[in-house]
Amino acid sequence: MNNHVTVLEISADALQHNLDYFKQKLDSKTKILAVVKAFGYGSESVEIAKLLQDKVDYFAVAYANEGIVLREAGVKTPILVLHPQIQNLKEIVKHRLEPNLYNFKILDAFLQLADEAPLMNYPVHIKFNTGLNRLGFWHTDVPVLLTQLKQSNNIKVASVFSHLAASEDANEQEFTVAQINNFAYIVKQIYEHLGYEPMIHILNTSGIVNYPQAQFDMVRLGIGLYGFGNNEQETSQLKNTHTLKSIISQINIVQPGETVGYNRAFTANKETRSATIPIGHADGISRKLGNENGFVIINNQAAPIIGNVCMDMIMVDVTKIDCKEGDDVILFNHQQHIEFMAHKCETIPYEILTAISQRVKRLVNN
Ligand SMILES: *Cc1c(COP(=O)(O)O)cnc(C)c1O
Repeated sequence: MNNHVTVLEISADALQHNLDYFKQKLDSKTKILAVVKAFGYGSESVEIAKLLQDKVDYFAVAYANEGIVLREAGVKTPILVLHPQIQNLKEIVKHRLEPNLYNFKILDAFLQLADEAPLMNYPVHIKFNTGLNRLGFWHTDVPVLLTQLKQSNNIKVASVFSHLAASEDANEQEFTVAQINNFAYIVKQIYEHLGYEPMIHILNTSGIVNYPQAQFDMVRLGIGLYGFGNNEQETSQLKNTHTLKSIISQINIVQPGETVGYNRAFTANKETRSATIPIGHADGISRKLGNENGFVIINNQAAPIIGNVCMDMIMVDVTKIDCKEGDDVILFNHQQHIEFMAHKCETIPYEILTAISQRVKRLVNN
């Protein structure tokens, strides 16, 4: 049992709201794939998947293990594994997960396994690289790829997809439109020669916001589900899903000239009340937030983090806050606070959310 008083609360209501928000933005026939990789962006993948399973068409995870966890919890929805390895293919089939086949090496390995099993029309997904230069076949691979796909009835291409490199960036519109057009051209060749028409998808959250004309058959909704749109205006329409909370373990009165924490990084210049909170960098609170770069909320007031962030604790200045040991502490409960933290840590909200370590107890509020 996890009795750690530091908890990450996940709001089911906010998730539902965010899904509905994107649903009403999309064409009614566009399918939705909910991305639940990395523990549902740091939340809790099994409970999130169970909440969403009747409301979305597909799930995606990054690695095979993440999909296996969902299957073992009884999730029946199709699950796309975005980044499988050859070593995982047997397990993928065993758990009826659907692999992304992104190059000839993994395609050949899967075709061999599918032939030996043998599998019939096993759903697979083919990814094309159209400019991210990360995973995927190149457009020049299309003829050979088509020959291989047509030769096998062990597999069936459930979808053909690609991923945008800069869908969030208005300055990269020309590049992004070219990616979409190149993808559409690849799809056209596949539709002409494959003999059937797999589903097509390219948009992530910011793609949905900025390039709704490229919805094709399905969209892959990740960060938007968890409360972040592509800009302030979109984010303000979404609800915060992740609330990180703790309590005050101890309050100390520090005299002028005394210091707080490791390396004596904070020196009191006046009598200071400091509160110690049981959360640290091992829980996902970056050391960059120390030394008054970050703050927590106690009784509706901001308390700056003083000194260095420890592995298991932070100390905050509560000189001006009416509070006592045992009181609640909010590390964040709003997208703006998460964005502020991301800014201070020179990162993006994705990393703040996924950094909350598994030591922190998860609680899904229904
Ligand atoms: C993570 C991921 C997504 C989701 O992106 P968001 O920006 O979170 O919506 C979509 N597609 C692929 C291939 C991904 O890896």
